[in-house]
Amino acid sequence: MIFFRSLDNKKKYSKYKKRLEEKNIEYCPFCDIKKIIIIKKFKYWFIAESKFSYDGICKTDNLLVVNRHNSSKEDLSFLEFFEYWNITTELLNDYDYIIEDSFKKLDFKNHYYIHLIKV
Ligand SMILES: [Zn+2]
Repeated sequence: MIFFRSLDNKKKYSKYKKRLEEKNIEYCPFCDIKKIIIIKKFKYWFIAESKFSYDGICKTDNLLVVNRHNSSKEDLSFLEFFEYWNITTELLNDYDYIIEDSFKKLDFKNHYYIHLIKV
């Protein structure tokens, strides 16, 4: 079995998620702008550093995140999707893989994002 996160990172992430559950709040890490390290901004999207990266499988795991909360892949607007398509097409030159978590694997289901991977 392949683990996307190293054991150490997996433990940190579990602790982080448990803390959020204990607080029982609707917390969205992608809307907490003060805590995000933004690498690049676009009109409808931004690229951010992943706090709990897939360090078990790669060197770099950045996230491409849509600006809008309460978003899913299905309800992206035409303009959001058009920009997404342009960004991901261009980024394929900079990254090795673009990974989209399936809905059951998404940890934050109310804010759409994908992983940008360099191995
Ligand atoms: Zn959000």
